[in-house]
Amino acid sequence: MSNYLFVGAGFSCAVIARELAEAGNGITIIEQRPHIAGNCYSERDRESNIIVHKYGPHIFHTDNVRVWDYINRFGEMLPYVNRVKAVSNSRIYSLPINLHTINQLFETHLSPNEAKELIESKADLSIEIPKTFEEQALRFVGPEIYNAFFAGYTRKQWGIEPSELPASILKRLPIRFNYDDNYFAHKYQGMPKNGYTDIVAAMLDHPSITVHLSTPYSIGMRNDYDHIFWSGPLDAWFDYEFGRLGYRTLDFEPVRGIGDMQGNAVINYCDSNVPYTRITEHKHFAPWETHEQSICFMEYSRQCDENDTPYYPIRLVKDKTLLKQYVEKAYHEKNVTFVGRLGTYRYLDMDVTIKEALDVADAVKASLAASDDLKPFYVKPL
Ligand code: UDP
Repeated sequence: MSNYLFVGAGFSCAVIARELAEAGNGITIIEQRPHIAGNCYSERDRESNIIVHKYGPHIFHTDNVRVWDYINRFGEMLPYVNRVKAVSNSRIYSLPINLHTINQLFETHLSPNEAKELIESKADLSIEIPKTFEEQALRFVGPEIYNAFFAGYTRKQWGIEPSELPASILKRLPIRFNYDDNYFAHKYQGMPKNGYTDIVAAMLDHPSITVHLSTPYSIGMRNDYDHIFWSGPLDAWFDYEFGRLGYRTLDFEPVRGIGDMQGNAVINYCDSNVPYTRITEHKHFAPWETHEQSICFMEYSRQCDENDTPYYPIRLVKDKTLLKQYVEKAYHEKNVTFVGRLGTYRYLDMDVTIKEALDVADAVKASLAASDDLKPFYVKPL
């Protein structure tokens, strides 16, 4: 039996901790915030009793049956399909880009094949291998869709020109030539009946797991454990000695009302002159509940400063250069494994986080069985 310290109580640490506790190890988790579940944290709003996602909307979706079964083991997931609307130039559209969006934007009633032809005629085929977000958009959807839905939103979300962002960010979004407006193309999709916090709490509910909230890490803790699993920012482990990795942070401004305020859970605002990126009305994430009151959050994105909560890793060239320095140094560390979105500085959805955490747990168990040292990384951050 080994004694492990986990820093952070989000999905990464909760899953690995649970797996290693079940394998007979002793687990201590410290979390600097006063709550578990990291940025997936949900709570009931006192005034309205609606489940709100404090750090922004989280919708669970995956193609991985192991991940789906795993999350269902710890809480009830109810069917939920994310259908997002977008406001552009004061008009409302369907997202992700689908046949309805195309017909709305071009004021047409094209069939799937006609729409494909239209979009192909707009695509800039001189861009052979798109490297940037802008090139990816111009290559695959053309200037009208790019300007209506992506350029303004992306500038607000990332704080830089889409021509400076990697194409991979846009690759997250599909374009469909039918009327399917399900935002995600995954086989399994749902929302936890009682919120994400309950699911993480159930994972951590094991006799060999002890959780200390509002407890920051201090270097002296190293001596008390056989190994540390670190889900904090990679650069924080090294006391930011080479500088800080760039993140975007989010601010949420609540607006209260009665009944149905916007008719949908998520509405994106794609124009540059609207300062927020989206408005989320959280009661729609739990359509099986009834609430007289409502609460919306307007979401603003900005640069993450020292005392802000990091959300999205930016991963521009300068961040990647810095990341390389930290990763090289991390490979020389003993008795620590870096995990999750912050530990590996990657833009991870919840399902990928859980999948990677299960893989880490499997690898750790295999290393223990073979008496091998544990590795600093089980997923390459670069
Ligand atoms: N995006 C956009 N317009 C939209 C929605 C998304 O330009 O209406 C771009 C934006 O750059 C965003 C990326 O696509 O960061 C990925 O969008 P997704 O909805 O996956 O973002 P998340 O929900 O993870 O913030």
